[in-house]
Amino acid sequence: MSTDYDVIIIGGGPTGLAAAVYTGRALLKTLVLEKQVPGGQIALTAMIDNYPGFADGISGFDFSQAFLRHAERFGAEVRVGTGAAAVRPEADGTFTVGLSDETTVTARAVILAMGRHPRMLDVPNEQRLIGYGVSYCATCDGAFFPNVPVAVIGGGNSAVEEGHFLTRFASEVKSIHRRDHFTAQKILVEQYLHSPKVQPVWNTVVQEVVGDKEVEAVRVRNLKTDAVEEIPVKAVFVFIGWIPNSDLVKELVELDPSGRVIVNELMETKVPGLFAAGDLCVRPIYQLANVVADGVQAAVSVEKYLEGKKQQNLGY
Ligand code: NAP
Repeated sequence: MSTDYDVIIIGGGPTGLAAAVYTGRALLKTLVLEKQVPGGQIALTAMIDNYPGFADGISGFDFSQAFLRHAERFGAEVRVGTGAAAVRPEADGTFTVGLSDETTVTARAVILAMGRHPRMLDVPNEQRLIGYGVSYCATCDGAFFPNVPVAVIGGGNSAVEEGHFLTRFASEVKSIHRRDHFTAQKILVEQYLHSPKVQPVWNTVVQEVVGDKEVEAVRVRNLKTDAVEEIPVKAVFVFIGWIPNSDLVKELVELDPSGRVIVNELMETKVPGLFAAGDLCVRPIYQLANVVADGVQAAVSVEKYLEGKKQQNLGY
């Protein structure tokens, strides 16, 4: 059966756009579906400082725009504002993708690159006060809270990096973590704790976000002493991990217990012609450079698959 595209890439973050550069260069007719902004989460990052080759760093927005131009230069069609609502493998080996605008498109192969979204604390008032002091993105919202105390929740790379960014604006950063140390990379932790504005609050969990129309405080509990207190803050920035956006394909592919798609080294899922890459998948690390590499691998695998060539999977 003839299809609208050779390959549809679902997700226009760094993984999806990297894949599109490669499928475009391989002269495959490529559609990228991005329901929000090209570049995804990375477009909201103030400064990317650890992508090899960018010695002076680059803003997430500039990086994303360059990636988009690159994919488009090789002929990829990038539809911004359109998401995928369903993916259906057909009996003849092609795929039908249902779109958020209720139309459908077809392709000979699909690359899943939907990424992941931030985990919520799941405490009272968190949901209600999103946009009124509760945030999951320091780069997006940090500047709204100049010269006031804010709280950062979590102890991984995201919490420490984003908390450090917040020291530019806030009068103090109460860094609340359930352990007695941060698990982020050492260099990030050192820079973070070096700031006089950062006040770690160890062994502590958030019980409630306090506030009527906007955030006024967080109610916290010390896990060692069980003591409960209210810490007055104007904003709560939550960085406690990520949830993979795998709902769309949960009946189709294999997932690990946390919902990440299981792929082999070639980015193949168990469905022939259906590939997955990047943050959506089980990966050893989640760095920009390696999720970009995932996109490249998925694209090359699609190319070989469509040529009918067998690649050697080295396995794990
Ligand atoms: P993460 O590494 O999974 O860290 C999540 C943090 O939140 C941990 O400190 C965890 O504590 C805590 N946490 C989880 N659930 C919680 C809950 N319900 N209540 C309170 N605290 C909770 O997530 P991440 O920091 O977002 O990083 C995700 C991945 O992206 C990592 O692989 C990271 O290396 C990568 N990343 C890299 C960079 C960089 O290299 N520049 C920047 C950002 C992210 P426990 O440790 O106690 O579980």
